[in-house]
Amino acid sequence: MIDIQKDILKKYFGYDRFRKGQEEVINSILQKNDTIAIMPTGAGKSLCYQVPAMALSGVTVVISPLISLMKDQVDSLNEIGIKSTYINSTLSSIEITERLFDAKDEEYKLIYVAPERLNSREFLNFLNDANISLIAIDEAHCVSQWGHDFRPSYTRISQAIENLYERPIVCAFTATATSEVKDDIKKLLKLREPNEYISGFDRENLTFSVIRGENTKKFIADFVENNEEQTGIVYTSTRKEAESIYELLIDKDYKAGIYHAGLTDEQRTKMQDDFSYDNINVIVATNAFGMGIDKSNVRYVIHNNMPKNMESYYQEAGRAGRDGEKSECILLFNPRDIQTQKFFIEETIHNIDRKEYEYKRLQYMIDYCHTSNCLRKYILEYFGEENIEDKCKNCSVCNDNEEKEDITVLAQKIISCVYRMKERFGSILIAQVLRGSKNQKLLNFGLDKLSTYGIVKEYTVKEIQEIINKLIADDYLVLSQGQYPLVKMNKKSVDVLKGNENVFMKINKKVKKISNSDNELFDILRELRKEISTRESIPPYIVFSDASLKEMSIYMPQSEEEFLTIKGVGQSKLEKYGNLFMEKINEYRKNKNIETKEIKKETKKEKVKSHIITLNLYNEKKSVEDIAKERDLVESTVREHLFRCAIEGMEVDLDKLLPDEYEKQIEEVVNKVGYNALKTIKENLPDEISYFHIKVFLHKVKG
Ligand code: ADP
Ligand code: MG
Repeated sequence: MIDIQKDILKKYFGYDRFRKGQEEVINSILQKNDTIAIMPTGAGKSLCYQVPAMALSGVTVVISPLISLMKDQVDSLNEIGIKSTYINSTLSSIEITERLFDAKDEEYKLIYVAPERLNSREFLNFLNDANISLIAIDEAHCVSQWGHDFRPSYTRISQAIENLYERPIVCAFTATATSEVKDDIKKLLKLREPNEYISGFDRENLTFSVIRGENTKKFIADFVENNEEQTGIVYTSTRKEAESIYELLIDKDYKAGIYHAGLTDEQRTKMQDDFSYDNINVIVATNAFGMGIDKSNVRYVIHNNMPKNMESYYQEAGRAGRDGEKSECILLFNPRDIQTQKFFIEETIHNIDRKEYEYKRLQYMIDYCHTSNCLRKYILEYFGEENIEDKCKNCSVCNDNEEKEDITVLAQKIISCVYRMKERFGSILIAQVLRGSKNQKLLNFGLDKLSTYGIVKEYTVKEIQEIINKLIADDYLVLSQGQYPLVKMNKKSVDVLKGNENVFMKINKKVKKISNSDNELFDILRELRKEISTRESIPPYIVFSDASLKEMSIYMPQSEEEFLTIKGVGQSKLEKYGNLFMEKINEYRKNKNIETKEIKKETKKEKVKSHIITLNLYNEKKSVEDIAKERDLVESTVREHLFRCAIEGMEVDLDKLLPDEYEKQIEEVVNKVGYNALKTIKENLPDEISYFHIKVFLHKVKG
């Protein structure tokens, strides 16, 4: 069984190994168990039901909340040679009937629907008539009131399943880990003794940072400038802030977009498409944006504000780096965010238990913004993991080795100014007093008579204000509630004033540049990817992920076999795009006079060429299956090896690679459509006859 799964993983998805947790979930499903899997955003949940869909006979129905995502997912699957479709309200009723008709004939392995579809009699009839082996419920937290995207129609799924003559395997996926949500999923979906898998919540390629009290607009503008070529998302908690940051970025001529619930449907679709198609690099959005985004090459997610809880934060931040490449997740904390979030809770939640629950979750989020321990450890422990290393060396706390300055004296000046101003003013006026500004309001209040007037000359008003913000963020001062918050003192302020506590702080923070290992060839390949994307109307990351392009640019594959070793390249992508990309790579090599590659992607250290080793085993009368096992290859690779030997003129019995009845069928088609139109030949043949079979046939007849 394990072989089938690995075979599918390599052949279709082009990956060599499963990620943590995937294999267990897939095994559980294939052993016909109801299964619930909790894995973080970007961990690879889709593959956990897509691989079983291919391994099982019959059709898999995927229930997913957003119709905007379905097209992309279905396009991705069809790209890698897995026949799929979706049924939703964007289709005409004729189209729906047609698709269902084809689905009944098992033309598709996967069908995506929204839960609302289960209200349709036509669809329910289809479920009963067709051979449905698996129902996968994606984003299953939508079934729970405690989840952040509660969708009432999700609660009707179990009813629909119960009404089927034959109950398929049911599996549910979510990134939400609270036990309330998990229990609701099991109960409301009526899962039958489900196997439960909670995979590690760690996303090693993500770097987590919390930055407190920074001028967020300046930070974001600098960050975008430093990382102009990279793709990112900036989350804000209000539309107003989204708009103001968007305008700032547009003013500076960055390729930016905006997304929030106040835009029209068309505007939102356009923004989402522009983002998917790499037409814009950064999108400024409220949390209305995201569920509809599976884009794999997001390199950073910046939170301009603290979100309402850790679940939301981790889900939003987790949209960075789905392709496994290094990415940044930065949270800019401002004490005012706490008030905003409390305000949201007060305004929107009326049930007392629920309110208390949300306040509790908010507190964890606030603590995350203030912890002086490893951020990753904090996150993982929040999600219930144990025995986590104390330091991850990949978060802003662990990496905080830049020397902090001792700013105790400056802090004392500021705090004593707050004291002398009787805690009755906001941070701007305090900064103006310290700086000795001649502002009229200040003079009217007689604040220029204070002993702290003009005692901080070495910083501008703006800088002093930022330092005050940082003192607040680190709890050396507090901000009162209300629209015009006043700066007040607390016990820590007094300790600092009395000289009982020293204050250390980084005053000038350098803005990070995401380490950019992209090279010239990468950029060339990226351009080619964009061309293909435009031509075929599929987003660039569906053509190839950044990770795939990166490997191509390093290993410079020159043969089909080498191309297949690239991460994310399966049989279908090889056939569709292999030549196009290898041409560009060759051109680049010629221009640069790169004779032979210095680096080769080797899976095994072998002197003898891999395909020849395969041939030798084959000549020892071992079957393709045995060779695959022995060499830890997938069967399709073994066959490719043998075929390559044949092409290179070695003696190989090709009859074994091409069953007689296939040969006959191909021959008939070739007689009709000719030798040259590979794609047409394929289209005229049943699915089980692959491009590989056709190529073997053509080699046999043409040599
Ligand atoms: P989730 O639904 O858990 O948020 P996705 O299913 O969208 O995550 O997968 C995220 C990305 O990870 C996709 O680009 C997918 O192709 C990639 N991926 C999944 N499994 C693997 C794997 N075993 N090896 C490499 N990449 C993988
Ligand atoms: Mg998903």
